[in-house]
Amino acid sequence: MISFTDLADLRAAVRDARARAASIRFVPTMGALHDGHAALMRAARADGGFVLVSIFVNPTQFGPNEDFERYPRTPDADAARAEVAGVDAVWSPRALDLYPEGESTRVSVGALGTCWEGKFRPGHFDGVATVVAKLLLATTADVLYLGEKDFQQTLVVGRMVRDLLLDTKVVVVPTVREPDGLALSSRNRYLSAAERQAATAIPRALRAAAELAARGEKDAAAIRAKLRGTLDAEPRLRVQYAELVDPATLAPVEALTAPARAIVAAFAGTTRLIDNHLINPARP
Ligand code: AMP
Repeated sequence: MISFTDLADLRAAVRDARARAASIRFVPTMGALHDGHAALMRAARADGGFVLVSIFVNPTQFGPNEDFERYPRTPDADAARAEVAGVDAVWSPRALDLYPEGESTRVSVGALGTCWEGKFRPGHFDGVATVVAKLLLATTADVLYLGEKDFQQTLVVGRMVRDLLLDTKVVVVPTVREPDGLALSSRNRYLSAAERQAATAIPRALRAAAELAARGEKDAAAIRAKLRGTLDAEPRLRVQYAELVDPATLAPVEALTAPARAIVAAFAGTTRLIDNHLINPARP
């Protein structure tokens, strides 16, 4: 495995891979790698080609009162994890490599980026779309691997790729969870023992909503009430949203006539957690 920082080294690695006719399989991350990231890296490895991981804590996707400064940075452990997952190259650009002095260009996807997460984190998805566009242009990735854990992000990035005519296929990898259902996240390490315990209400609520739908409930209000009720029963969580939405438009659904997504954002203490789950209507 090779590791580098400079854009010139990235371009040379990509050129070498292309000279061997290898496709470029790209996994963008913010580091503090865990088994969720490893699933993306393994999916990329299984598909063959040149597997490239970026590690960059992107300042433009953090709000002024968010955790950019204290976001976990674990470069040595990340390199070890990437190596084990069979990654070919790790690119860890500096902020100035991606945002050169005086830069001013932003990518904005519109409505998909301003609802739900975008409402509670204004500007977040402009930061995400901008950095992913830069990363895709720099890496010339043929395939991009994203985690379903960040469901809205997969839609935002998919739209950006399509709208900007980028020649990149987007692959979405299922969420990796702890045995008790909590989705793995770099932010889980902020949780105290009590908060960690409270956080299990999130996957419990998502599963309860999915089970209610599987038993034949078609009324989205009833499914939403189950979701919300399970979350509200945990007083140590502060819910920002808990909704049942159309998986393509993210608009709230009224009746469960097609597969929907349950989406949740909640604080456990000062740690903000998000998760989501497929809600399938019962088979007739
Ligand atoms: P991050 O480092 O948090 O920006 O995440 C980098 C990529 O890993 C994103 O595509 C995430 O959706 C994905 N990811 C994060 N957590 C998980 C998880 N628990 N399961 C699967 N993918 C994940």
